[in-house]
Amino acid sequence: MKKDTLCIHAAAIEHNPTRAISMPIYQSATFVHPGVGQTAGYDYSRLQNPTREHLEKTVAQLEHGLDAMAFSTGMAALTMLMELFTPGDHIIASNDLYGGSHRLFDHISTKNGLSFSSIDTSDLAQIEQNINPRTKAIYVETPTNPMMNVTDIKAVCEIAKTHNLLVIVDNTFLTPYFQQPLSLGADVVLHSGTKYLGGHNDTLAGFLVVNDAELSAKLRFIYKTVGSCLAPFDSWLLLRGIKTLAIRMEKQQENALQIANWLKKQPKIKKVYYVGLPEHPAYEISTQQASGYGSMISFTVDQEKTACQLLEHIRIIQFAESLGGVETLMTYPMMQTHADLPQAEREAKGINECLLRLSVGIENAADLIADLEAAFI
Ligand SMILES: *Cc1c(COP(=O)(O)O)cnc(C)c1O
Repeated sequence: MKKDTLCIHAAAIEHNPTRAISMPIYQSATFVHPGVGQTAGYDYSRLQNPTREHLEKTVAQLEHGLDAMAFSTGMAALTMLMELFTPGDHIIASNDLYGGSHRLFDHISTKNGLSFSSIDTSDLAQIEQNINPRTKAIYVETPTNPMMNVTDIKAVCEIAKTHNLLVIVDNTFLTPYFQQPLSLGADVVLHSGTKYLGGHNDTLAGFLVVNDAELSAKLRFIYKTVGSCLAPFDSWLLLRGIKTLAIRMEKQQENALQIANWLKKQPKIKKVYYVGLPEHPAYEISTQQASGYGSMISFTVDQEKTACQLLEHIRIIQFAESLGGVETLMTYPMMQTHADLPQAEREAKGINECLLRLSVGIENAADLIADLEAAFI
């Protein structure tokens, strides 16, 4: 099946005993045993629930994985993933990550005895230089948030293989519709399902996807133990969202390209960061490893006043955190997603008072451009 068909039919209707076209919401905490030592396949919803299982099968297939686990949030997925490691372990991570991932690594995982090298993972030599005998994994986000840096996933996996390291890829921005890291050699894919997979800015969710049975068994054991699983109703919302993933991703990308090209021509805009522009330094790698460029754009304006003016005058585009939904949102990374980073570190990355981020939705592109144009005046 092709990706757009998988979005709708990945999990076979046979898994749904009632044959309802929409997987029912099994709002049940526990399941009755038919007899002693017998199970109907489900025992307790922390371990597994039919609605969540249907969703997990869908996401696993889209990512070409063996198993997917659905979590209450993306951060819950990442927090649980860190339980794979033990004190003393070292992880190499992209230095331009989602703000919450930075916060987890710096303030929680470090306290638990893990150590991190925060480097530019698009520079393969830097990865090699930072590997030490305690290194266990390479954690990559690509494209990154908010600077849109791209890492060559296949090349990182080749390095990792020679050192026996796990490669973890946060695939939130492109989703399996545009990029499938497991097929490029990665071991674990992480998602904030809150974003494109859910797609409607109405539900929080997260995923881990793996294609190795042993790794899946290890993670499933932690999963049933820590209990950060996705609820049945939210699982159903995610299933519903994924049905339209293909058409949303296409339309959002089409809009993003038009907006990026328009932004480039505005006198008050200094720089546009969009991986779908041929002048983006990683355009070639993006074209090789992904089948699309997504719809996240960052840009810098001439001065702080312009940034504030834009945020206060947009009318259709909304000034809000988050991304990936049908509504176009504008974010001020310095004050929102990356507010917890130390100022010097933030500024070194280019996250300053002139940087804005757009998550382009599925509205009419002409309306979005008119909204930006009016806000500039
Ligand atoms: C939002 C986000 C997360 C965290 O996910 P939540 O669902 O908000 O917990 C992780 N990585 C990326 C790239 C994100 O955008």
